[in-house]
Amino acid sequence: MLLITCPVTRTDELVADRRIRSVTDHPTHIALHVQCPACGAVHAYRTGRRWETARTRVTDRAAVPGRAARASVPA
Ligand SMILES: [Zn+2]
Repeated sequence: MLLITCPVTRTDELVADRRIRSVTDHPTHIALHVQCPACGAVHAYRTGRRWETARTRVTDRAAVPGRAARASVPA
């Protein structure tokens, strides 16, 4: 089970494992694509301490190449 916040309805949803469409292991984080029980869309979520650390580091710096990647972070 997984707790997500739907960016469309802004509600917290408890999601069954079978709704996880894909799990991608990246060096800095794990990306999950989850079919949302609230709105039916597939949302991308990232998990992991290293992802949080990397994101903080990017936020602290100005004009870092690769900032565009932050655009896909769920609000
Ligand atoms: Zn949703």
